[in-house]
Amino acid sequence: MSADRTYEVVIAGLGVMGSAAACELARRGVRVLGLDRYTPPHALGSSHGETRIIREAYFEHPVYVPLVQRAFELWCALEQETGTKLLLETGGLMIGKPGSVLIEGALRSARLHRLTHEILAATEVRKRFPALRPDDDMIGVREPHAGILFPEACINAFLARARGQGAELHYGEAVQRWDAGSDGVRVYTGQGQYCARRLIISAGAWVNELLPKHELSLRIERQTLHWFEPVSMTDEFSSGRCPIHLWQFDDGRFFYGFPDLGAGVKAGFHHAGEITTADGIRRDVSPDEIEVVRSVMRRFLPGANGPLLKSSVCLYTNTPDEHFLIDTHPQYPSVLIASPCSGHGFKFAPAIAEIIADLAQSRSPRYDISLFRRR
Ligand SMILES: Cc1cc2nc3c(=O)[nH]c(=O)nc-3n(C[C@H](O)[C@H](O)[C@H](O)COP(=O)(O)OP(=O)(O)OC[C@H]3O[C@@H](n4cnc5c(N)ncnc54)[C@H](O)[C@@H]3O)c2cc1C
Repeated sequence: MSADRTYEVVIAGLGVMGSAAACELARRGVRVLGLDRYTPPHALGSSHGETRIIREAYFEHPVYVPLVQRAFELWCALEQETGTKLLLETGGLMIGKPGSVLIEGALRSARLHRLTHEILAATEVRKRFPALRPDDDMIGVREPHAGILFPEACINAFLARARGQGAELHYGEAVQRWDAGSDGVRVYTGQGQYCARRLIISAGAWVNELLPKHELSLRIERQTLHWFEPVSMTDEFSSGRCPIHLWQFDDGRFFYGFPDLGAGVKAGFHHAGEITTADGIRRDVSPDEIEVVRSVMRRFLPGANGPLLKSSVCLYTNTPDEHFLIDTHPQYPSVLIASPCSGHGFKFAPAIAEIIADLAQSRSPRYDISLFRRR
């Protein structure tokens, strides 16, 4: 193998996790090759759809709070470095019944980390945010430090910065297989072979295809997202008036929505999608699926229950406990697995990239990642 095909790190998959890792490793002066089977950013994986929520009072677990705080800093730095708008702060509102997983979890994180927040009765939510119509027995937890990331722009920014700092990026080149030995990893694609000290597998919903003998216990979940045209109180859906919002209602279902940034009000369910595979996923959206979302819009955001503008399909890569998986391969320490994020990983990408880069450089990550180890 020729010397110019030898790298310190090869990254398989340049969605948000892989592109962020390429950017961070290149910034540290590491000789890195990033490979993607398509041309990122694209709409076939998990990182598309115009917007992603970033929020700090993290209901899933307080351990995520320092990570999202670091991610906020890094997103702002990336905005400055690239001169691109990546983040819009709108504040955030978690809405549900007292005692629900969403409300209790958000309050636990907010209190433990002393985050600015307020608890609002349903009447107060309806008064301050007229677009949102919670039931009388619901409350809201409002946090100022939350907002929207623009995923396609974020990935473009990571890739541009990675390349600008010396990373080599190959699009339309899928990793087919790899071998690991004591001296590192050999990576095979349809176009060639590469040697590296480390391989980072950040292939999203395709991750198990690259772990044939050690398939992880992951559920690939199809998610639909929808944009509706507001028909009344249209000003109330603007980003200055309407925060990002996450709801838990009825039997525990989760629903989320964004303000109208000009393309309609985007909304969807968090989880409750059909189990699928990355290549076998059904990409059309049925009228029944739209009606289920519409029934929630009718109830909680009636002003946005106008014509459907568009729908899209996306993939969650879920671990059994719905936390992340960031760890070395069970058998080969030179291989890192770094993308199953259970449908809530985008916001953390630059902070996760620091963790991945630390692991790739055999340093101890500066954050507690015990929750993200293989289990
Ligand atoms: C509908 C939806 C809404 C979400 N909302 C939020 C949110 O509001 N906030 C939040 O923080 N998170 C959210 N998430 C989760 C977040 O978007 C994902 O965790 C994140 O985008 C996953 O990124 P990834 O890089 O792991 O995967 P992907 O972006 O799918 O990247 C994987 C890449 O690997 C490439 N690849 C696959 N196989 C190979 C191979 N063999 N060789 C080379 N390349 C390969 C693919 O082409 C792809 O580009 C949401 C996810 C979805 C689907």
